[in-house]
Amino acid sequence: MGGGAGSAAIGQEAVPSSRVGDFIVPSLSVAGGMHEYSLVRSLLDRVDASAREHRATSVAALRVRIGEVAGVERELFASAFELARAGTCCAAAELEIVAGAARWECTSCRVEAPRGGVLRCPACGAPVRLAAGDEIVLERIEMEVPEHV
Ligand SMILES: [Zn+2]
Repeated sequence: MGGGAGSAAIGQEAVPSSRVGDFIVPSLSVAGGMHEYSLVRSLLDRVDASAREHRATSVAALRVRIGEVAGVERELFASAFELARAGTCCAAAELEIVAGAARWECTSCRVEAPRGGVLRCPACGAPVRLAAGDEIVLERIEMEVPEHV
């Protein structure tokens, strides 16, 4: 093994999610991207804390999952990241954004509800709730960590 830097991957870490409701809410661009910008700031804070915890010298790559009904525009999120990362540990990090599919399920019998605005379970008539798709999750951090002697 050569010297230099190794790579460490961190598992799932939830980033404060912008919960916009339990039902189908069209993706809203809030105040011209300020919403995305503040999310990016909290993401960077989170990454910075992890980097310091692992004594990383820099962050090489990030993967963030943005649920399709999280109310966050992926393009705005990416451009906010470009703006916010200067001078942070993520200044040279590659950002990968993956989409999280929305899924609704019955609150009573857990049957998966079809997409398209049905708010009652087709099987038992109970309300359905959003089971996935409104989350913003920092899925992976790749950071450069000096090898310990
Ligand atoms: Zn049901």
